[in-house]
Amino acid sequence: MNFNGIDFDTYFKNYPSKDGFFGKYGGCYVSNELKTALKEITDAYFTICKSSKFIAELRKIRREFQGRPTPISYLERLSNSIGTGVQLYVKREDLNHTGAHKLNHCMGEALLAKYMGKKKVIAETGAGQHGVALATAAAYFGLECDIYMGSVDIKKQAPNVARMKILGANVIEVKHGLATLKEAVDAAFEAYAKEYKTAIYCIGSVLGPHPFPLMVRDFQSVVGIEAREQFTSMTGELPDAVVACVGGGSNAMGMFSGFLNDPVDIYGIEPLGRGEKLGDHAASLKYGTEGIMHGFNSIMLKDEKGEPAPVYSVASGLDYPSSGPEHAFLHDLGRVKYDVVNDEETIEAFYTLSRLEGIIPAIESSHAVAYGMKLAKTMGKGSVLINLSGRGDKDMDYVLENFGIK
Ligand SMILES: *Cc1c(COP(=O)(O)O)cnc(C)c1O
Repeated sequence: MNFNGIDFDTYFKNYPSKDGFFGKYGGCYVSNELKTALKEITDAYFTICKSSKFIAELRKIRREFQGRPTPISYLERLSNSIGTGVQLYVKREDLNHTGAHKLNHCMGEALLAKYMGKKKVIAETGAGQHGVALATAAAYFGLECDIYMGSVDIKKQAPNVARMKILGANVIEVKHGLATLKEAVDAAFEAYAKEYKTAIYCIGSVLGPHPFPLMVRDFQSVVGIEAREQFTSMTGELPDAVVACVGGGSNAMGMFSGFLNDPVDIYGIEPLGRGEKLGDHAASLKYGTEGIMHGFNSIMLKDEKGEPAPVYSVASGLDYPSSGPEHAFLHDLGRVKYDVVNDEETIEAFYTLSRLEGIIPAIESSHAVAYGMKLAKTMGKGSVLINLSGRGDKDMDYVLENFGIK
């Protein structure tokens, strides 16, 4: 399929380019020291990801450890309640082991570490979700695991800190600056530059310098491949629309990659939080401008000094001031439409899906559910497939405390 001059039949061969560019976005803007380390990962990945042994081992892990394929569920009561005749479906990444999609790329990254002969995985974490998924993968493969986390986040995310520790990871407190995600990223990269001979850096989304946006997309593409196959065998056709929430953009890229070459409308949903004022949301693609941070060029939210701006969302997994470079590319191209949903609509959707379908969604995923419901109201007929990136067990106390029982 050709779309605005891009041939989607050969898209995955051409994007990213050899140097990690999606058009002008992406790349590898890091120190020479880190460039050497990342080049080693890139070379290893291009060799190993084609080996039949690696592919077979990853398949076996997905089936026997992660519980893949995850199903697609038809949302009968929710569809009926909307009443336009539009049918809603969800891809159940909440049923992936550990309760979200993040384990898909963490198992891939840790398996790569094993094939490269590394002894340790290093990462940063904000809300702790990536840290928990990586600690799980490290335990499975018997790798050491260093997770860098800001002091502020350590206090806020106590249950995830406990999970990481139980799984055997070292949680390393980062105390300088604002002591949140940005400082944790810097500290983790610094440690990796020193330890890259024995360790590998494992990023948490389709972000960071090349080759991470490519690798994470590849590992997450299992979601889109399964979903396309399952949906067509369930209904005999393709969905009319596909929806996913976008923080860094990994669950969305995984889902979208299965449908980019199809006549399907694709929607990426960013958090509008409390409103349009800078600092009240994390909708980087909608309100941001081009810029380089954390080693890659993308669209980002900046303060008046040009530094990453403070962001906010009710979903801690979505509050990042940029998105992966491939999303910036698909945004400018117009192949994916990016839109926003605010906190209130999100919490409403959280309760609606719980009450009508018996599925408690993560607050992140509730953004996609909210948009899918809005979309279904505007469509006369057809179907909408929503990526349910994770389950909401982690969010229940927070929702009850802040929003009460609806
Ligand atoms: C981390 C997280 C997200 C956001 O990350 P992406 O890379 O944008 O997918 C979304 N949903 C859940 C459940 C998460 O844990």
